[in-house]
Amino acid sequence: MATSLKSEIAPHLAFETRALHAGAAPDPVTGAILTPIYQSTTYVQEAVGVHKGYTYSRTANPTVAALEGRLAALEGAEHAACFATGLAATAALALSLLDAGERAIVSDVVYGGTVRLFQQVLARFSVQAEFVDTSSASHLASALQRPARLVFVETPANPTLKLTDIALVSRLAREAGAVVAVDSTLLTPALQRPLELGADVVLHSTTKFIEGHNATLGGALITRSAELHEKFAFLRNTLGAIQSPFNAWLTLQGVKTLPLRMERHAANALRVARFLEGHPRVVRLLYPGLPSFPQHELARKQQGSGGAILAFEVEGGVEAGIRAMNRVRLCALAENLGAAETIITHPASMTHAAVPAEQRLATGITDGLIRLSVGLEEPDDIIEDLRQALAA
Ligand SMILES: *Cc1c(COP(=O)(O)O)cnc(C)c1O
Repeated sequence: MATSLKSEIAPHLAFETRALHAGAAPDPVTGAILTPIYQSTTYVQEAVGVHKGYTYSRTANPTVAALEGRLAALEGAEHAACFATGLAATAALALSLLDAGERAIVSDVVYGGTVRLFQQVLARFSVQAEFVDTSSASHLASALQRPARLVFVETPANPTLKLTDIALVSRLAREAGAVVAVDSTLLTPALQRPLELGADVVLHSTTKFIEGHNATLGGALITRSAELHEKFAFLRNTLGAIQSPFNAWLTLQGVKTLPLRMERHAANALRVARFLEGHPRVVRLLYPGLPSFPQHELARKQQGSGGAILAFEVEGGVEAGIRAMNRVRLCALAENLGAAETIITHPASMTHAAVPAEQRLATGITDGLIRLSVGLEEPDDIIEDLRQALAA
């Protein structure tokens, strides 16, 4: 749908500038600098079939279209479709591409809701999902011996931060004739741009860093393919899963500071990770920005920094981990990540409770694992809070 910033200008602007300007221009009627919230269900037609590109807000909405223009510009794409939530985007992706009897290969560590969608809903319609360690080229190559329509990768994977080499997966999947979609929620285009590495589709839960303020739910599917975008827009209209204009408007404001926020989030996370790594009660720490991370080299190559999420386990197992989480004062004990506020989460009982226990444990999501989304507070304050929470 038409967006007001001339798309031939946007690609030449720097990322920081696109985060502020792409997709939006002063309102032509009033001069309002912010794209208005077009809180309208319908659009009056001049004559039957004569309209300005908008007909009904389940199909398309001007505020949502402004956000789509901006997100597409940030990923280096032509097309974006925004959804009510990240999972609505995942559902639209899967339903667009997979017919009954067809098969998807999905990273073995993914957001818990993604597992639930494939195992508890799509399986009922004979769509098969095989959960594969996509960080291993040999595991992926052998999974691709049998026909697969979709390869769905999450990197870094929530919550263990396992990485998948996007360029490698894209090459192998393309040879096998599969579409590659990357859930890039944990890094955002400020730190990772999967389309530039060969992927076909980028998926975001904009709920997280893109909006960034714990204020909205939202999702997006971004692609350079007009054909794929048409499928996504069709499914969105059919399912009724479009994002609300108000959420799109808040996200348009949040995304303006995305480059600044991601830089600070990651710098703070590195400080906190170093503290945890040196803490005598921390027995396992996962942070891609530290040399101790098994895939640190891939992180350096593929992402702009270590990102803002880390995971750790404390000595004494589940009980000790839960005790520490119950003792935080500044960090918020909650489900969600990617907000200005630091959030501490227990994946086994919260975000990944829908994943069968054996599947969780086999992929390192132990009952004692603690996930930390490092926020924008002064890092010494976060560290002080963790220090007192970890004190025996
Ligand atoms: C939160 C999340 C989702 C789901 O997004 P919602 O907006 O909560 O529906 C998908 N993928 C990842 C990696 C997430 O963190």
